[in-house]
Amino acid sequence: MTAAIIDGKAAAAALRQRIGARVGELAKQGVTPGLAVVLVGENPASQVYVRSKAKQTVEAGMRSFEHKLPADTSEQDLLALVGRLNADEAVDGILVQLPLPAQINAELVLEAIDPRKDVDGFHPVNAGRLASGAPSLVPCTPLGCLMLLRDLKGDLAGLEAVVIGRSNIVGKPMAALLTAESCTVTIAHSKTRDLPAVCRRADILVAAVGRPGMVTGDWVKPGAIVLDVGINRVSAPELGEGKTRIVGDVDFASCAAVAGAITPVPGGVGPMTIACLLANTLTAACMRRGLPKPVL
Ligand code: NDP
Repeated sequence: MTAAIIDGKAAAAALRQRIGARVGELAKQGVTPGLAVVLVGENPASQVYVRSKAKQTVEAGMRSFEHKLPADTSEQDLLALVGRLNADEAVDGILVQLPLPAQINAELVLEAIDPRKDVDGFHPVNAGRLASGAPSLVPCTPLGCLMLLRDLKGDLAGLEAVVIGRSNIVGKPMAALLTAESCTVTIAHSKTRDLPAVCRRADILVAAVGRPGMVTGDWVKPGAIVLDVGINRVSAPELGEGKTRIVGDVDFASCAAVAGAITPVPGGVGPMTIACLLANTLTAACMRRGLPKPVL
């Protein structure tokens, strides 16, 4: 079998278009959703993410507020900024770019964000609501994965899903979303015994580990859907001395020979993450104003 390649770029572009259309309708009611992104320090990867988020926010017709703070910003000053953004009526979503410098307790900062503006979905209130099946703001990467799965398969009820990784930002919320879709869900992690055998049960296999090429074709059930969340920078001497490239947690060639559908890295799950940030900003804007949650 040769897997269908899931085009995350195209899916993200289509999602952004649907978001843009809904934002256009809201504008007629005098509402323009706003996203505030806070960057502390000068981590080059974070700067790239923040630029990209701001650009896409504006392209979708929303307002973007960028707050760039020096690397030596105190926890108190960052908490004060979060407090001001919580109170700002023009701000519907607040995203504090991680990682934060060592002098700042990230947990404390994330918990200070108003859960109604928590477009990353990391606040314990939103994590709890997701776990209990209540409406919530859902972390962007797993939300993007779910949208790709729904596009591909429609109804996911009854499917066996295996999620490798149990982080709060990907693995756990992914498992909660798949449970809500009535999949039979297994969460695997570093202590899981015989991981290849566990993975071979999966109709849906999600890899969110951070280990380049860990999942190989012999771990994959023929015809399964494989979503590769991993983003790993590896050295690529074939591109020239000192060059690097990005690879996923899945060994693409061997898995694509067995799977029914598979996401590439780059161009798979990644583009959906930022598009889902915009979706969450729109959702937050609607929910805060008592408007119906947009169906995207
Ligand atoms: P974490 O490091 O927080 O979690 C990794 C998980 O993988 C842990 O639960 C860990 O298990 C598990 N794990 C580690 N080694 C093994 C192993 N040998 N076998 C089985 N499980 C293992 O990572 P994140 O969840 O934050 O990110 C995962 C990957 O996804 C990274 O590559 C990251 O860059 C990428 N990512 C991509 C995004 C995107 O937009 N596409 C967004 C966010 C992340 P244990 O809990 O037992 O330690």
